[in-house]
Amino acid sequence: MKIHVDRELCEGNSVCVALAPALFDLDDDNMAVPLAENPEGEALAEAERAANGCPREAIVLDG
Ligand code: SF4
Repeated sequence: MKIHVDRELCEGNSVCVALAPALFDLDDDNMAVPLAENPEGEALAEAERAANGCPREAIVLDG
């Protein structure tokens, strides 16, 4: 399961960073970037919480 952030949708509000600080950070353009490619177990659950919490629905988990 890979984490993707749609940079067209991300507005840099840091919700994902707050929900999953080990998995997301903001880059110099204030866009979220995933810190892990293939989270598993609890990390995957955290990634799902961040995806569900993103108000822009910019986080996609696939694979
Ligand atoms: S929660 Fe969504 S909109 Fe906010 S920084 Fe993360 S990916 Fe971007």
